Amino acid sequence: MANPVAALWKGADTYPDRIAVRSGERILRYGDLRARIARSAARFAALGVSPGDRVLLVAPSIPEFAIAHYGLHTIGATIITVNTMSTTHEIDYVVDDSGTSLIVAWHESAAAADLVATNRGLPFVELKPFEDDPVTDTPSVDAYVERDEHDTAVILYTSGTTGKPKGAQLSIANVNAAPIAFRPALRIGDEERWATALPLFHCFGQVVVMHSALTWGGSLSLLSPFAPVEFMNRIRDEHVTIACGVPTMWNAMLQNASGYSSDDFVDLRLACSGGASMPGEVIRAFADKFGCVILEGYGLTETAGTATFRDLDGEPKVGTVGPALPGFTIEVRDPDGTPLGADEVGEIFLKGPTVMTGYWNRPEATASELVDGWLRTGDIGAMDADGDLRIIDRAKDLIIRGGYNVYPREVEEVLYTHPDIVEVAVIGVPDDHYGEEIAAVIALRPDAVLNTDALRGWAKERLSAYKVPRIVHVVDALPKGATGKILKRAIDRDSLRELSS
Ligand code: ATP
Repeated sequence: MANPVAALWKGADTYPDRIAVRSGERILRYGDLRARIARSAARFAALGVSPGDRVLLVAPSIPEFAIAHYGLHTIGATIITVNTMSTTHEIDYVVDDSGTSLIVAWHESAAAADLVATNRGLPFVELKPFEDDPVTDTPSVDAYVERDEHDTAVILYTSGTTGKPKGAQLSIANVNAAPIAFRPALRIGDEERWATALPLFHCFGQVVVMHSALTWGGSLSLLSPFAPVEFMNRIRDEHVTIACGVPTMWNAMLQNASGYSSDDFVDLRLACSGGASMPGEVIRAFADKFGCVILEGYGLTETAGTATFRDLDGEPKVGTVGPALPGFTIEVRDPDGTPLGADEVGEIFLKGPTVMTGYWNRPEATASELVDGWLRTGDIGAMDADGDLRIIDRAKDLIIRGGYNVYPREVEEVLYTHPDIVEVAVIGVPDDHYGEEIAAVIALRPDAVLNTDALRGWAKERLSAYKVPRIVHVVDALPKGATGKILKRAIDRDSLRELSS
């Protein structure tokens, strides 16, 4: 059963009436979902899509995404998903780079994709609400294609900080290994109620959450776009047992939690965070408010999601992302590639069943990131004596100020404990004297007023002088990427530089 849709097929035979995926009151049960997937597969096959053909899917986190996605899996297509906000130029790049032969887009996010299809003379399918398309017959599954586990299931483009986005190729084996990898650590059962507001076009939402939920017979509640109050209402009203998000989402829920109590979250067994570092202060405040510990996992698009997860046993160790999941090996290495010992800081390398097969059409990038089967993550971390990994920062975010290394995350962790600060990003800004100067870009609680000198004094009591941000800039909101992660590269360093002079 190498096709990722196979588990879902089996689920539809066993529990056809169970909710598979929902968006509020828009509900698809397993039996209905399978019928719709079979029908969409037949339609895509009729357009001439053959196994291995690249097909671009542009859709938000709604049930129709799941129908089209698994319809494409059914016929063995290699699926490419991009942000629904992508411009014509961005879509054109991905279509060109991947050799896409069909474009499928949700009708409300279709304009740019449609234009690219027209310009390139490619077939285009516009997805409509499933209610407009009632299933009256029992669609055949003739279009189903068994796949080799080495075939490429999806290509997910990562933007990277330099150069053009690269397509991480995840094989059938990678995609199918993802749900298996973290099931034991989180003791995921057969009838979980999952909720997420993550975009399904990104690896976290698509592979870690959607594919796991549907593989294990769960009911998946989708919210798009994320809104903290609405998400908390869903957790409460739909008796959600597993909710998944990025740190900014958990933080936003906390900032809007005044009308809620731990009684509202009694069914929530797992609050899972990943994708970026989770401020310890948010974990502590969330546990105080809701009696629920946020568990952190760590992974990349290149690892089809999680490679570590904080397991449920033992005391939660705030600041770590847990041990390597079964089947994964993690090494922290020095710049020469020598593995380091416990608590020594270096670059994280990892190996495991979900590590990508390479970047599409990028032999050089593949050779530099995949070394003897090890993925070079570009993240700095340390493994403690218990085998728990601590993510210190991205190597590229390290600030070198006057010859001293400053990890932004350490400074951010301290600033998050300040009562007036809601969100913060610490970055390095070019400086003639020190090489780089430390800047903190801060969003405040409503009605809070910040005296920047007082903040520096406060920080100086908690941090060595060279780590204290000299530049402090208050903004209404920090820039966020597609998943809701804070996007440091979108902060205008030049204008911050002017603030320091
Ligand atoms: P883009 O696709 O725009 O380049 P990205 O670099 O964030 O985005 P992703 O694959 O989405 O790419 O994210 C992977 C990165 O997210 C990791 O390399 C790591 O830096 C960060 N990350 C993931 N989980 C955690 C975590 N639990 N703690 C800290 N950082 C994390």
